[in-house]
Amino acid sequence: MTTPRISLVQGDITRQSADAIVNAANSSLLGGGGVDGAIHRRGGPEILAECRALRASRYGRGLPTGQAVATTAGRLDARWVIHTVGPVHSATEDRSPLLASCYRESLRVAGELGARTVAFPAVSTGVYRWPLDDAARIAVGTVRTTDTSVEEITFVLFDERAYEAFAAAVG
Ligand code: ADP
Repeated sequence: MTTPRISLVQGDITRQSADAIVNAANSSLLGGGGVDGAIHRRGGPEILAECRALRASRYGRGLPTGQAVATTAGRLDARWVIHTVGPVHSATEDRSPLLASCYRESLRVAGELGARTVAFPAVSTGVYRWPLDDAARIAVGTVRTTDTSVEEITFVLFDERAYEAFAAAVG
C-alpha cells in the first residue's frame, strides 16, 4: 500500500487512458445522462450488456448508493469502468459518508482488479446537485486517507469551475 499520486485534468473522462475510469452511475446501472451517458455512448453496447447481466444476477434491485462494481470498458481506452452510485445532495440530511464511500469503494474495486491508475469524475455534482467545493473536499480527503494499491488517481473535471474547486481542495 502506498499513497497514490493525485492529479487534476479538465476534460472528458471518456478520453482518459487510465486503467479504470469511474462512472457516476445511477442505481439502475442501465444508463443515464452526464458522465454515464458519455461512457455508454463512447464505450459502446458491451458495457450496457454487462450492466444488464449484473442487474440479472448480483444486483437485482440495483447497485446501492455508495457502492461500486466493475465492468469491462468496451471501446474505451481504459480496461475497466467502475460504476458507482453517488448520493443525491440533501439540504436536510448529511449524506457525505455515502459520497466518501463512492471513492473508497471504487478504489477497493480498482485494487481487486489490479488497476494502477484510476480516473474519477466529480461524483454527484451534476444531476445529483452536490455543491462543488464540498464534493471536491470530500473526494480529495477520502482518496488521501484510503489505503490502496492504486498508484495514480486523476480527477477529470468537465469544466473550469469544477477544476478550480478540486484545485482548491488539493491545496
Ligand atoms: P451525478 O448524477 O453523480 O451528479 P453527472 O454525470 O450528472 O453525475 O455529473 C457529475 C459530474 O460530471 C458533473 O460535474 C458533470 O459536469 C461532469 N461530467 C459530465 N460529463 C462528463 C464527462 N464526459 N467527463 C467528465 N465529467 C463529466
